[in-house]
Amino acid sequence: MESLSSPSSPHTKQGQPAEGGKADEVSPCYGVRARPFSPKLTEEDKTLDLTLRPKTWESYIGQEKVKKNIQIIIEAAKKRGEPIEHLLFYGGSGLGKTTISHIIAKELGTKIRVIAGPVIEKVGDLAAILTNLNEGDVLFVDECHRMNHLIEEFLYPALEDFKLNLILGKGPMARTMELKLPRFTLIGATTRLALLSAPLRNRFGATFQLNFYKKEDIEKIIQRSSNLLRIEIEPEAIKVIAQCSRFTPRVANRLLKRVRDFAQVEGKGVITKNITEKTLGFLEIDKLGLESGDRKILETIIKKFEGGPVGLQTLSAATSEEEDTILDIYEPYLMQLGFIERTPRGRTVTKVGYQHLKIPYKKSQYLI
Ligand code: ADP
Repeated sequence: MESLSSPSSPHTKQGQPAEGGKADEVSPCYGVRARPFSPKLTEEDKTLDLTLRPKTWESYIGQEKVKKNIQIIIEAAKKRGEPIEHLLFYGGSGLGKTTISHIIAKELGTKIRVIAGPVIEKVGDLAAILTNLNEGDVLFVDECHRMNHLIEEFLYPALEDFKLNLILGKGPMARTMELKLPRFTLIGATTRLALLSAPLRNRFGATFQLNFYKKEDIEKIIQRSSNLLRIEIEPEAIKVIAQCSRFTPRVANRLLKRVRDFAQVEGKGVITKNITEKTLGFLEIDKLGLESGDRKILETIIKKFEGGPVGLQTLSAATSEEEDTILDIYEPYLMQLGFIERTPRGRTVTKVGYQHLKIPYKKSQYLI
């Protein structure tokens, strides 16, 4: 059991980030933990995923349109007695791309092989993966925008004609060999659709975007997770966690887990609204789910760049946040809240963004 500080520690004051501190870094009382919003998966996430990952359509909450479309695709393919076409899912980390792919494989009654795009380094790796698949199996490639382009070239005929053309040997003695592959289904997942090469994108039969969830759906997810983890939680506490979950199931589950820890150490094991608010204060997460990194981005644009516009590179340098982190984690949610806007000349903070930070709004002189 990890140890927690007393709620009266300076970290716990709601809405007041400790000077320069981040909840995920080395905190004397919380240890090294991933930020609730980090796209990086910790061992704890993997265990949580195993326990909480929905395995049926009924338990996969929200994303109704996508679900319906996929159910039709599966039914039609089953009627034709063929494997389903290759599918691409895009959307932020933790929105359910992996989960839905597992459900698809289960519905098809086939196996799923999960692999991250960057892991396939050599053509030999690809050949080994593909030749080990059985007819109708699903190959799930996460982060497919990070796949090596050479590997992609070899993948194209595999996707279209279910064959792999290997080159054996070098120079004039080189020979090509054609390997026949089972008819498999590729499911690609990406957080960055724009980075996917056009030829790869065109080879997917259907592309689906997973959006941020509705608050009611996140509440259902938190209730379901609490039941599975045998956590006693008050309805008001569910509402508070949902409000701070960036409309993302993984974040909701991580926050629930943190509040549970807090409730066990500081309270009587039951998650109440009060314990939830104390935990969120401790984690420096405000009422809308913004953490210190989000606030730093807004404040930097306002204070150093007069509200913007400011380019990604400059913003990254000024905030010491990696460009990818800004693009994948902070920006989508800040845009969803309407706190920042992307213009051709860069990011600007909107009037509501100023209001949230309680800074008097001044329209950027560059936008007049
Ligand atoms: P991604 O692949 O998009 O990063 P995951 O599919 O791994 O996201 O989802 C992360 C976790 O969030 C899952 O383990 C699951 O517990 C939860 N989750 C995701 N989507 C849903 C959903 N629609 N309903 C319930 N829980 C979900």
